[in-house]
Amino acid sequence: MTLPLHFRFSQASLADYVDCQRRFQLRYLLEQAWPAVESEPLLERERLAELGRRFHRLIQQHVEGLSVEILTASIGEPELARWWQSYLDSLDRTLRDLPAQRRAEVAISIPLKSYRLTAHFDLIARDDDRAVIVDWKTEHRQPAREQLRQRLQTRVYRYVLTVAQQRPPGTVSMIYWFAQYPDLLVALPYDAAQHADDHQFLSELITEIEQRATQEGEWAKTPDERKCAYCVYRSLCDRGVYAGTSEPDEEDFDLVTRINIEQIDAIEY
Ligand code: SF4
Repeated sequence: MTLPLHFRFSQASLADYVDCQRRFQLRYLLEQAWPAVESEPLLERERLAELGRRFHRLIQQHVEGLSVEILTASIGEPELARWWQSYLDSLDRTLRDLPAQRRAEVAISIPLKSYRLTAHFDLIARDDDRAVIVDWKTEHRQPAREQLRQRLQTRVYRYVLTVAQQRPPGTVSMIYWFAQYPDLLVALPYDAAQHADDHQFLSELITEIEQRATQEGEWAKTPDERKCAYCVYRSLCDRGVYAGTSEPDEEDFDLVTRINIEQIDAIEY
């Protein structure tokens, strides 16, 4: 088996590989259908993921010019209404200094080695001097700043935007905004050293996957069975039938939302 020509990598697929090689193989190479949902906790995750998707859609419509009144009137669920109000309040507080040109839900793809690397942005706010990536989070848990800085999402997003817009890395930054903690956003600046490090890290990771794909057989399952708790393939891997009951890590929570994110058409550079 080899990687398909022009295979599209993303933060989600790279995170899958880093978490568990077998998950990457099942999802992206074998295109294994997701087994049916098997337990109530995962259904609750999906309910929250659906609310999260609607929250993103509300912001997208707001950025595109739909009035606050119309959007507010369209919300039925109290939880979604709270997140929405937090967002509106933040526009005059923690988010008030964002550059004026804004685009929501945009996917950008750049070449890397023989493949493409795609990032799906919640919001890009920019002007001549800087570009700010904003990522909306609706989970209850707020990861530590260092954890966010090390996330594949952070590395891929800042790298892709810098390359696509041919900006000096120092003019790019990323903000994680949390609906549960709207006054505690995490801002992560970028610089040339981090950009060079990301280029090397992402190139080497893709080379490793490329070489792994030339070998036959089942790819390695993660030895960390906590990563299986919210993986939809756990029944195929004999890693348990029931979903975990504690709150998953944020990257695990993303498992139920990724499939929709991956479907956005990307602008290619
Ligand atoms: S259940 Fe566990 S071992 Fe199997 S693909 Fe998912 S994370 Fe990997």
